[in-house]
Amino acid sequence: PPIIADLVRLQANARPDKIGLSFEGRDFTYAQMNERSNRAAQALISLGVKSGDRIGWLARNVSTFWDVLFGAAKIGAVVTPINWRLAPPEVAQILEDAQPALFVGEKMFVDALPDNARRGDYRTMLLEEGGDNCFDTLIDEQDATEPDYQASTDDVLIQLYTSGTTGLPKGVVLPNRCYHAVGEAGRVADIVLPRTDDEAALHALPHFHVAGVNFGLMAIARSMRIIQHRQFDPAAIVKEAQGAVPLNSFFVPAMIMMIMEAAKAMELSLARFVGISYGAAPMPEPLLDATMKAMPNAILTQFYGMTETTGGVTVLDHDDHAPGKKQRVSAGKPLPACAVKICDPISGEEVAQGQTGEVVARADFIMDGYWNKPDATSEVLRDGWYWSGDAGYKDENGFVYIVDRIKDMIISGGENIYPAELEGILARCPGIADVAVIGIPDEKWGECVKVYAVKRVGAEIDEEGVIGFLKGKVADFKLPKSVAFIDMLPRNPSGKILKTELRKRESGG
Ligand code: ATP
Ligand code: MG
Repeated sequence: PPIIADLVRLQANARPDKIGLSFEGRDFTYAQMNERSNRAAQALISLGVKSGDRIGWLARNVSTFWDVLFGAAKIGAVVTPINWRLAPPEVAQILEDAQPALFVGEKMFVDALPDNARRGDYRTMLLEEGGDNCFDTLIDEQDATEPDYQASTDDVLIQLYTSGTTGLPKGVVLPNRCYHAVGEAGRVADIVLPRTDDEAALHALPHFHVAGVNFGLMAIARSMRIIQHRQFDPAAIVKEAQGAVPLNSFFVPAMIMMIMEAAKAMELSLARFVGISYGAAPMPEPLLDATMKAMPNAILTQFYGMTETTGGVTVLDHDDHAPGKKQRVSAGKPLPACAVKICDPISGEEVAQGQTGEVVARADFIMDGYWNKPDATSEVLRDGWYWSGDAGYKDENGFVYIVDRIKDMIISGGENIYPAELEGILARCPGIADVAVIGIPDEKWGECVKVYAVKRVGAEIDEEGVIGFLKGKVADFKLPKSVAFIDMLPRNPSGKILKTELRKRESGG
């Protein structure tokens, strides 16, 4: 496969008139996309952006992102998308960390930043605002000549920040080599988007998330049209699915849940989906069943992976989702050209099959390292292996099961308790719509189990009911000591439950 810098040019040569991107009523052919990426590269050059420079990016999913990603790739510059849902001081922290040469954003997000972040040692430009400071206008004004630069596999393509589920987001440095390896060894595009180019790729994942970038690049590699949504809106997705075009998409489980709720409320079908990939967080089995029912034509594919590994390290194929197969709740098997082993986090030795340990992976698509964090990098990158921080095990057929994050493990009276096990069971409890389990300090046991639950509308369930539901299904030492009911669980934009927030509540913070 080509490196990303060449991808859109090759598509423009091969199929110039094919529409590659649709956004809010505008269509762009591959020829136009390539032209726009050249103009974007020229705009960056005109602003003094050089190879290796970071471009801070703070915007919802606008089509200009793709122009800038390909344009930057053509001059070796590094797009650094930032999560716009973060609080302004958190965005400021990331800008401080990334030290961009240029900062581009939507006005409402830029205006909300503290003064020193809005005007750092970089030029700040706005999207879609018109006027002198408008980045889109600057792009439009450039000529469309290919920049005179030979991109290499070592050039960094993108610096993505981790989701910040377990701590502050870390800048993950991903060179062209990583995306080349995903394309070549992983053949991920074939797995995610295996069918014809008449189908479209409905894109509603954030551009600042590894899956959001990957899904778009895969669609282009597959010559599919990206239908770009500015942000995730379940009702808009349901409407999109009423058209004639067969749709492929990549969602996180929480998004799928919301889409199905919206479809139910709107009394509309989701049968137009022919491919659904998902990942980033555990998929509860009841939600999987409901998805298979609501989207009967969709080929399902699960990915397990992280920002640090340019996305997936394991994949669960459609056939393995069938009811009755025990691996349907696994994360599947390692992608081709990716080795996955399960190791004791303390001794570092591989554990026996069936034993739970830390998931460790090796592949050419593993990051160069964390930006400006050599210590954090050497903690997770050891002898060419990436230590994921996730607990998991392998079954006798090589399927990898993700148990939980090691950091979330509860140790109560010397026994290890994985919250995800309890969450999986409580997902089936009739009165519960959503649930999270954490450990809280306990004088006697060190830690004990606490459940945070969201009730289903109209359900009558109390603390005793929740504990009673678990009784007999898990060992007694795993039973919660208390249950709190709340209206909504705190989640980050990747749909992951922010347990740090729940723990803060416990300590009164
Ligand atoms: P941070 O590293 O900042 O704490 P994060 O780990 O959530 O945030 P990401 O790189 O976006 O940031 O997510 C990777 C993590 O998501 C994995 O380590 C794993 O815990 C979880 N994950 C990804 N895919 C799956 C999956 N299919 N099933 C269960 N968990 C998954
Ligand atoms: Mg992580």
